Amino acid sequence: MTVSIGVTGATGRMGGEILAAAADRDDLSVAFAVSRSPGESVEGVAVEDAADFADLLASHDPDVVVDFTGPASCIEYASACAAAGVAFVTGTTGLSEGGFDALREAASEAPVLYASNFSRGIAALRRAVREAVPALDGYDIELTETHHNAKRDAPSGTALTLLDDIDEARSSVRQTRSDDIDGVRGESERVHGREGDAPRSEGEVGVHARRAGDIAGEHEVLLAGNHESLSLTHRAGSRGVFAAGALDAAAWLADRDAGWYDFTEVLE
Ligand code: NAD
Repeated sequence: MTVSIGVTGATGRMGGEILAAAADRDDLSVAFAVSRSPGESVEGVAVEDAADFADLLASHDPDVVVDFTGPASCIEYASACAAAGVAFVTGTTGLSEGGFDALREAASEAPVLYASNFSRGIAALRRAVREAVPALDGYDIELTETHHNAKRDAPSGTALTLLDDIDEARSSVRQTRSDDIDGVRGESERVHGREGDAPRSEGEVGVHARRAGDIAGEHEVLLAGNHESLSLTHRAGSRGVFAAGALDAAAWLADRDAGWYDFTEVLE
């Protein structure tokens, strides 16, 4: 049986990738696609008006909606899906804390899966970071991400996820040693770029966001100390990698119960 999907942001970069990738799969079919600039067709799929999203949900009754749009529309789409009991997969980044609260609220009525990055390589990078940080306790850490020149949010959602991973890994070391540095267990100070007289303080994590050309996404975690350095780098060769992961997530989420799900569960 094929899983039917609704696609939001269909005229965007990721929306187009999702429609192209879906056309190549026989386990999924596209029920409808929407955009706030409707009218054109993308990958042979007619793009309808985003204002009609709730009506389209009711008339097409898709199994899952796949969303790569913006923070405000992501929440609107998630709420509409929750009301209709339709599963929701989103990779939209730049959500505020309130935005995540609203997404989690939607998850009480329908299955919701959020991932700041849908690539398998990033999932492996996260595991490597969680292993390297405690193994190199006390080493300086700098995180650099690079994306295309139209990306809005900075640092990237993936960078924020990696920063949380670093904090969690540091926290586990400190709990083991039971020394709570600065009274803030595991929360590193995040220093976004440096300028002027800006020496590094112990324990801070430098965060650097570069924007150039059409780069799909690069993330490097650099750990240095003790006369050595370790650089863990992931490069996405194209957005197709994110689309493939998001569609795997949609196929996996289709028959789940309401709740909050993570991409790592799909990979496991
Ligand atoms: P884009 O600007 O090319 O496309 C965004 C689309 O969303 C456009 O069609 C736009 O019209 C639509 N949109 C934006 N705001 C809207 C609103 N208020 N109402 C209706 N439609 C709206 O962007 P993109 O490169 O496709 O990225 C989209 C999102 O996906 C970003 O948040 C980006 O960071 C994220 N992203 C996530 C992953 C991942 O793996 N999780 C990968 C790539 C991009």
